[in-house]
Amino acid sequence: MSGNESRLQAIYQITNREPVQVSKPEVMNKIWATDVFNLAKMEESIAKNAFKQVKNTVQTGTPLDPSTADVVAAAMKEWAISKGAKFYSHIFYPMTNITAEKHDGFIVTNSDGAAITEFTGSLLIKGEPDGSSFPNGSIRMTNAARGYTAWDPTSPAYIMQTANGSTLMIPSVFMSWTGEALDKKIPLLRSNHAMNKAAHRVLSLMGEKEISTLNSSCGAEQEYFLIDTNFANSRPDLLLAGRTLFGASPAKGQEFDDHYFGAIPARVQVFMQDLEDKLFRLGIPAKTHHNEVAPAQFEIAPYYESANVAADHQQLMMTLLKSTARKHGFTCLLHEKPFAGINGSGKHVNWSVGNSTQGNLLDPGKTPHDNLNFLLFCGAVIRGVHKFGPLLRAAIATASNDHRLGANEAPPAILSVYLGDQLEKVYKDILEGKLIKAAAAGVMDLGLSQILHFERDPGDRNRTSPFAFTGNRFEFRAVGSSQSVSGPLVTMNTMLADSLNWVADKLEIELKKGSTQTIAVMAVLKELMQKHGNVVFGGDGYSSEWHRMAVEERGLKNLPTTADALPALREESVKKLFESTGVLSPVELESRYEVYAEQYILSIEVEAKLVVDMAKTLIYPAAIRYLSDLAMAASSMADLNVELDDSIAQKVAAETNAMLAAVAKLSEVIGRHDFATTEDHMKFCAHEIRPLMVAVRVHADALEAEVADELWPLPKYSEMLFIK
Ligand code: ADP
Ligand code: MG
Repeated sequence: MSGNESRLQAIYQITNREPVQVSKPEVMNKIWATDVFNLAKMEESIAKNAFKQVKNTVQTGTPLDPSTADVVAAAMKEWAISKGAKFYSHIFYPMTNITAEKHDGFIVTNSDGAAITEFTGSLLIKGEPDGSSFPNGSIRMTNAARGYTAWDPTSPAYIMQTANGSTLMIPSVFMSWTGEALDKKIPLLRSNHAMNKAAHRVLSLMGEKEISTLNSSCGAEQEYFLIDTNFANSRPDLLLAGRTLFGASPAKGQEFDDHYFGAIPARVQVFMQDLEDKLFRLGIPAKTHHNEVAPAQFEIAPYYESANVAADHQQLMMTLLKSTARKHGFTCLLHEKPFAGINGSGKHVNWSVGNSTQGNLLDPGKTPHDNLNFLLFCGAVIRGVHKFGPLLRAAIATASNDHRLGANEAPPAILSVYLGDQLEKVYKDILEGKLIKAAAAGVMDLGLSQILHFERDPGDRNRTSPFAFTGNRFEFRAVGSSQSVSGPLVTMNTMLADSLNWVADKLEIELKKGSTQTIAVMAVLKELMQKHGNVVFGGDGYSSEWHRMAVEERGLKNLPTTADALPALREESVKKLFESTGVLSPVELESRYEVYAEQYILSIEVEAKLVVDMAKTLIYPAAIRYLSDLAMAASSMADLNVELDDSIAQKVAAETNAMLAAVAKLSEVIGRHDFATTEDHMKFCAHEIRPLMVAVRVHADALEAEVADELWPLPKYSEMLFIK
């Protein structure tokens, strides 16, 4: 199609679209978790003893014996077949942010040629995908062995429904034959284990007698854009890169704030309900949905769950967001910055740790004793963010998230902690020794229970902080919308484990001196604040003053790009952190560095090639056609002796030439591969390729503003964002 024909076609299709057929709404208890083989279903279908074992495994992470696995497999198969499943699949999460699966049939034929179904404990426990082409950061190159998947009984199996079939999905880990983690789930399980162990130490020292297994929890708020698929299909950049590489700002953007929390467009509301219906059937507790700041931007947030299950559910939700959107004629963009000039998308990861005996340790609680536990855990988080800020930054480092961090809409690439006025003052008083005095004077509750009575009003929150305390949890706000939440959760759990161990060591020393618990806690926290209090910041994280102060006065790191951030994974302190907690071996950590770096480089190279391609084959021809129209008009007018203003022709010619010059430079650098180190290659992408892509874009966008609308080939921002 030439000129603006594809755009007109798209608008025609959208205007004349038939509403999507959706089924009648069902009441909640009829659909809730119907497609999940959860504990309740297991209890109905297996013997009491076996069930007790499984439950214990789920709650405490102890291994399951093979005979019990056989029992579970048989029950799972019966249930899945009764729901129409003919295939099963171990679903796993490679080091990239995607979900992977390999499907196998339940069916085998016997010697008579009859079909029987088979699914044993060992088939349930272990799958063997030919995962050799998943990035592994050279872990498996050495022995050329294949990786294998293993059932994670702590995350329930479920049925994935498609229009004409269904498949039993078995959440799994993915590892090499030599036992190295090749996925995002293994480290998450290990990090939880490390946090549990360290938390036990602290709680025991605090005199707790009964301490059940601690788990981390996660509630992730997912932002996304919905664009009509007719538009997306005419934009190679949206199809291949998930974001627009070109596009002039529309006359109207998000200035009016009229989209935020506005009425949800009817077509989107229908989509959301359809999606939520699917989520509920899969036991995913979708809780809130609303419009976001940018036009065509929305958010969905499920209620929080244990981190491992939440991470699986989050991946599943991203898959369903995309597939359900497609059914409704939308393309769901999970990219962090699909459109320049308007807000991008993040994924706020709300995180807390707790158990059934002590409750949520990041909740100040009601008694002075609860307050002390809380202050220790919260203090441990402060220390973690300070000590491992660059690691946290690395955990959210992707080519796409770099567009968002540090822009004036998302937290800066400097990691600091926001506590809120009241809590910040408590820690300040601790630092200044005021609370030690109060404790020594026998004021047992130190006034904390009053001070820590938080307002949970979101208006009270600092939206410019990357890491904010929000009353009973921390909210890591710098996570990218397309990312798996596992990396951030692993990092938070592991840094907390390390800090809690530090706290426990210090507490032991203080208590040995004969100090009371309160005095010991205050002394430990005082030292902690002296060393790490610098990371606490309640001001405006977007301001340039903070960018200066953070680096110059507080010694915090500002790591604007992934190229700056990823090398944190190779620092000695980080290696030590992961090794000492048993979360990642040095080999596993190094492989992660390699995989993430490669992903970064690849995605920038793909985009750069796309920029060259689109500039040459879509934008240049439009500009030339317009120029030739203008030239023709000018020469006809000259024949009539009419003088015509040629300023537009001049401008279009100048921008076209400038664009081509930038394209030539960009093409030249894309091919470079002679780098001494991966780090050099990443830096080259960040500091050479990216700016040249922007240079091409600047001229292309200037052309969009000049060239006749009927010749412009790419759907414009105003169309994509406002036509629904
Ligand atoms: P907001 O947009 O104001 O940040 P939302 O209600 O949209 O808040 O999302 C908050 C998220 O935090 C939800 O997923 C919620 O379930 C989750 N959450 C609430 N309490 C906890 C907790 N203790 N630990 C982890 N996540 C939590
Ligand atoms: Mg939030």
